[in-house]
Amino acid sequence: MSTTRRTTIGAATMLIAAPALLRTGGARAQGAVPPPIGPAFHRFQVGGRTVTVVTDGSNVRPDVTRGLVVNASPEQVSAALAAASIAGPAMRNPYNVTFVETSRGLVAIDVGTGGVGGDTGALHANMRAAGLDPARVALIVHTHFHGDHIGGLTTNDGTAVFPQAAISVPEREWVFWTDAGEEARANDARRPAFANVRRRFAPYAQRVMRFAPDAEVAPGIRAVGTPGHSPGHTSFLVHDGTAQALIIGDAVTTPAFFMVNPDWYPGFDMDPPTAVETRKRLLDRAATERMPVVGYHFDMPATGRVERAGAGYRLVPAAG
Ligand SMILES: [Zn+2]
Repeated sequence: MSTTRRTTIGAATMLIAAPALLRTGGARAQGAVPPPIGPAFHRFQVGGRTVTVVTDGSNVRPDVTRGLVVNASPEQVSAALAAASIAGPAMRNPYNVTFVETSRGLVAIDVGTGGVGGDTGALHANMRAAGLDPARVALIVHTHFHGDHIGGLTTNDGTAVFPQAAISVPEREWVFWTDAGEEARANDARRPAFANVRRRFAPYAQRVMRFAPDAEVAPGIRAVGTPGHSPGHTSFLVHDGTAQALIIGDAVTTPAFFMVNPDWYPGFDMDPPTAVETRKRLLDRAATERMPVVGYHFDMPATGRVERAGAGYRLVPAAG
């Protein structure tokens, strides 16, 4: 384990030192595995609050033109890749956790995958590279309960990874994923996610608090209900005075697809019409209020501003 961590720290350090060398995706040959996209973490201020986005790593989708976007043809998706200067059809899917320093201590928004192939599972090493001690996490708040957002709660043998942390979850999300009737009605592809929720939250059972869609979950962090991707999916507004940033979770995933075409939806959206409506509302707000957004599945630095572009929007990434 320690060898793995040392190796990962080395890779993370390299990512920080040479980000320019890693942004070579546009030049690689068709079909090649896209390189990791650095940096390992990105830090910015929201008024007096310090926000640090830390990547857990990424894995590769071999062909995003088929199956990822449910309501677009492979030709349309290929055209979207070309418009974004992304050489397809393989594409990395990153996983990024946001940390906010508050008067209540360090707050984590989601916890990473726990390791799902590729170079994922690097959250703790990259936290240390960012100067964040995992033992200092006082509160974990969750956007939703899909496996890539809650996997990092426990090791594979079920041990709590953040033994000191309290946990706050969206009430609607908790009710859905703990409902035996919903589990019984779920299709074969979705049913295992219910057991995963039980398993990941088990060691924290006495410390799980549930919050309403617009609750202040920690000082300076307000829940913003953004349902559709999952029943209780929630984004978080980090605020201090008039300064604000929106941690959007999976309300918008790959910007080149779902910002540019807010009507498109991925197979992971559990209620597509609601997800599309939520996505449009959120993007309109982010563009109007000119506030930074952070996406769990954006390429690092995973942070930027949203601008209107044609019939949709585009992400203007923060300087990494
Ligand atoms: Zn996700």
